[in-house]
Amino acid sequence: MTAQLIDGNALSKQLRAEVAVRAAKLTEKGITPGLAVILVGENPASQVYVRNKVKACQDAGLHSVLEKYPATMTEAELLARVDALNNDPSIHGILVQLPLPKHIDDHKVIESISPLKDVDGFHVASAGALLVGEPGFKACTPFGCMKMLESIGYDLRGKHAVVIGRSNIVGKPMAMMLLQSSATVTICHSATPDLAYHTRQADVVVAAVGKRNVLTADMVKPGAVVIDVGMNRDDDGKLCGDVDFAGVKEVASWITPVPGGVGPMTITMLLVNTIEAAERL
Ligand code: NAP
Repeated sequence: MTAQLIDGNALSKQLRAEVAVRAAKLTEKGITPGLAVILVGENPASQVYVRNKVKACQDAGLHSVLEKYPATMTEAELLARVDALNNDPSIHGILVQLPLPKHIDDHKVIESISPLKDVDGFHVASAGALLVGEPGFKACTPFGCMKMLESIGYDLRGKHAVVIGRSNIVGKPMAMMLLQSSATVTICHSATPDLAYHTRQADVVVAAVGKRNVLTADMVKPGAVVIDVGMNRDDDGKLCGDVDFAGVKEVASWITPVPGGVGPMTITMLLVNTIEAAERL
């Protein structure tokens, strides 16, 4: 079997076009949906991410403000900026790019964002809403993975989904979203003794680890759907995921590539959350 690709670029294009239509409708009513992106420090990867996010906003007709600060910014100064944006009616979504410099408490900063503007979905209020099934902003990466499953018409009810990774921004919310769609969910992590034992039983595997070749062909049930969240570099410095793509695509029924899979979907769901924040007003 050679798996079919779930093309994150193509799906993103379609979803971003829908966002652009919604943004135009709001703009006609005098509301330009606005996203503020805060970058503290000079992390090169973060600089690329924020540039891509700002450009995606502009392309979809959203107003986007990029605030760049030196790594010497204090926690108090950053909290004051977030507070000002919380009270700025032209801003509907606030994103603070992580990681922050070590002297700033990530958690404290995320909790200072108004849950009404928490378009990254990282605030405890957003995580709690997901846990209890109330409306709230969903973390963009797992939300994008769910959209990818939806795009292939995959019915998760009664399926066994295995999530590899338990971070607050990917693994845990991913597991909750799969559970909400009535999958039976197993969460694996670094202390899981026999990862392959679990993944071999899975109808859906989501790999969110950050290590190459965490999932190889012998660990995948024939016909499974494989979503690769990982972003790593191979020996030639090329972007690759957590999944041994060449091997696993011969066993799976559907697979997401890296690049061109989950990555663009994460930014797309940020736009979707921002437009939703603006529409809620
Ligand atoms: P993270 O916070 O480092 O979490 C990694 C998780 O993997 C942890 O729960 C860890 O377990 C688990 N793990 C580590 N080694 C393992 C192993 N050998 N077997 C099973 N589990 C293992 O990372 P993250 O923020 O969730 O991100 C994960 C990956 O996704 C990274 O490559 C990141 O760059 C990528 N990512 C991509 C996007 C995108 O848009 N495509 C967005 C976000 C993240 P413990 O909890 O026990 O340590």
